[in-house]
Amino acid sequence: MRLKSYLSGAWVEGQGSPAVLVNPSTEEPLAETSTAGLDLAGALEFARSRGGPVLRKASFAQRGEMLARVSGLIRSQRDALIGIAVENGGNTRSDAKFDIDGAAGTLAHYAAIGRDLGDRRTLVDGDPTPLCRSGGFVGGHLFAPREGVAVHVNAFNFPAWGFAEKAAVALLAGVPVVTKPATSTALLAHRIVTLCVEAEVFPQGALSLVSGAAQGLLDHLTGQDVLAFTGSSDTAALLRTHPALARAGVRINVEADSLNAAILGPDARRGSTTWSMFVSAVARDMTQKAGQKCTAIRRVLVPRDALSAVEEDLASALARVRVGNPAADEVDMGPLATAGQLRDVRAGIDRLCASARVVWTAAEPSPLGAPPGKGFFQTPMLLAADRPLDSSAVHEHEVFGPVATVMPFDSGGEVAELVRRARGCLVSSLFTDDRSFALRMIRALQAWHGRLHVAGEAVASDAPPPGTVFPQLVHGGPGRAGAGEELGGERGLRFYLQRTAVQAPRDLWDALTVAQDPC
Ligand code: NAP
Repeated sequence: MRLKSYLSGAWVEGQGSPAVLVNPSTEEPLAETSTAGLDLAGALEFARSRGGPVLRKASFAQRGEMLARVSGLIRSQRDALIGIAVENGGNTRSDAKFDIDGAAGTLAHYAAIGRDLGDRRTLVDGDPTPLCRSGGFVGGHLFAPREGVAVHVNAFNFPAWGFAEKAAVALLAGVPVVTKPATSTALLAHRIVTLCVEAEVFPQGALSLVSGAAQGLLDHLTGQDVLAFTGSSDTAALLRTHPALARAGVRINVEADSLNAAILGPDARRGSTTWSMFVSAVARDMTQKAGQKCTAIRRVLVPRDALSAVEEDLASALARVRVGNPAADEVDMGPLATAGQLRDVRAGIDRLCASARVVWTAAEPSPLGAPPGKGFFQTPMLLAADRPLDSSAVHEHEVFGPVATVMPFDSGGEVAELVRRARGCLVSSLFTDDRSFALRMIRALQAWHGRLHVAGEAVASDAPPPGTVFPQLVHGGPGRAGAGEELGGERGLRFYLQRTAVQAPRDLWDALTVAQDPC
């Protein structure tokens, strides 16, 4: 299968030597793709000049209806999409549902926001301020869609949700999208875009797809465009200093990697509900999507006197995990997505092991249902850093696989010191029933996180796992996590809108901000 890109309203195929997409359980080729020779500058201009004006003319409610249709298409094709995620992403069915249902749910959430915003096309930011004694001249802030294109560069691990969580917000804001999934797992996003094109959900130019390498795509961005990137900090660093982006003043949002922590409160006793919630959360995050989740728990902080019991309980939870080809029903954890990821994970484990000991891993990896010697499998590996204040790698190096490091602490102050060493996280979680410990930790960790998750016995049956990203809440994190922010309900729209302070006679301001603006 030759994957095409959808640019300037047509499916087009690149030239030259292609990248090959494989099944990571069997290494069988599934598709190939290339973007060489494609007119990416023309595609960006087509999106700006054809998609942008039509989207801007549509009301929030009309844009929301488009998103609701995409959500419906994903739901109606759920089984087929899950099949693609199993084959191309190495996802178990449960991993695939997490990605695909997350995509449909996020689109539905933004569709509902569009419905609530109704027939408006722009947003007002707060009340106007009088700028003279009589109050006849005022100043206030208005948001309008940027007149450019939103380029979305996504990571390989959530090809459906990654597409949806960015596209839903940009399109609702009225900005056309060029989405670029990571090449290795692009089949799923390709299929979703195909569904949208076949159903003619969007006006021409509103949604484009680059299937394959970015190949100079970013060289053509202008000051009305935005770039939203999800991926590694290394690639993010390249993009932040990209000369064309810097020159044009392109607005950039970065969602990068993160060494998220899970903290067990000193009050939690072995065998308690809170203890079990903690152990399940860590084991789930290590193995869901084979640990390839930006929100996965990487650092496991436990009171010193609980260290060996936590190690034992986690080891027995991990020992039950059956690794293999997720096409087989009995498999709990699939392979890593690519040979490169496997290489990086193994190198990362070596790096962590310089200052950590191995607590548990399977003696001989023999993946179920995979051809002998094939597939990018890594069994879960639990490490422990006994002197975490003296270990730097565990706080600096993200191993993007089924690996986590347990470490002891002696006080709340030490927890804060250890967590902060990662220089900014997407999410950390706290499992405790001690209200004052929870309050102290939230205050100490708030500035270093995009999201904090606190759970214990009282909410055992209600609290979702910490790794779940809700469209109602912001996603992103300070510092090394990318310093970005996405989602958060209506807040997410602001990235795609220009906020303009308007100083004007009061009657003009009132005319500008009535619900049914005529633009
Ligand atoms: P990556 O290697 O940085 O690639 C991410 C995306 O960037 C891919 O689409 C890739 O395209 C593209 N890319 C690479 N070099 C580029 C360049 N020079 N110009 C333009 N685009 C370029 O990351 P990954 O391996 O896919 O993803 C894993 C990382 O993402 C992990 O570190 C994880 O923590 C992070 N992540 C973060 C979040 C979050 O929300 N914070 C979510 C998911 C993942 P090709 O595939 O074509 O090379």
